[in-house]
Amino acid sequence: SQRTLVLLKPDTVRRGLVGEVLGRFEAKGLRIVAMDLRTIDGELADQHYAEHVDKAFYPPLRDFVTSGPMVALVLEGDEAIEVVRALNGATDGRKAAPGTIRGDLSLSNRENLVHGSDSEESATREIKIWFPDLP
Ligand code: ATP
Repeated sequence: SQRTLVLLKPDTVRRGLVGEVLGRFEAKGLRIVAMDLRTIDGELADQHYAEHVDKAFYPPLRDFVTSGPMVALVLEGDEAIEVVRALNGATDGRKAAPGTIRGDLSLSNRENLVHGSDSEESATREIKIWFPDLP
C-alpha cells in the first residue's frame, strides 16, 4: 500500500465541490489518513511547488493557491499515487478525458481542482511539508 498527498485547490472549495471530489477518491477505495482545511501563504506555496517556482505560469499559480482555503489530504491505498493521478486526469481541464475529475468538472489549465503527488519521492517530500507530524 502507498500514500499520496492530495490537495483540493481553492476552486474546489469555492465551487462547493469538496464532497463531489472527495467522494470519487473514497468511492475508489482510497483511505483518508490525514485531512486539513488550510489557507496557505506564499512561502508554503513556494515549498510545495519548488520545481515550478521559476516557470512563467508560477506567479499566477501562486496567487491562485493562496487565494483561499484548500483541503489537504493524505490518501492511502494500493498504487495510490498512480490511481489518484488517473482519477484527476490531464493537467488542462479543457483536454482532460471525460470521467476524470478535471475532465468532468474543470475548464481551466490553472484552476484544475486537484493536485496529486507525481512519484514516491514527491509524495514523501510533500507529506512531510503538509503533515510533518503524521506517523
Ligand atoms: P499537480 O502537480 O497539481 O497534480 P500536474 O502534475 O498535472 O498537477 P504540473 O505540471 O505539476 O501539473 O503543474 C502544477 C500545476 O500548475 C497544475 O496543476 C496547474 O494548476 C498549474 N499549471 C501547470 N501548467 C500550467 C500552465 N501552462 N498554465 C497555467 N497553469 C499551469
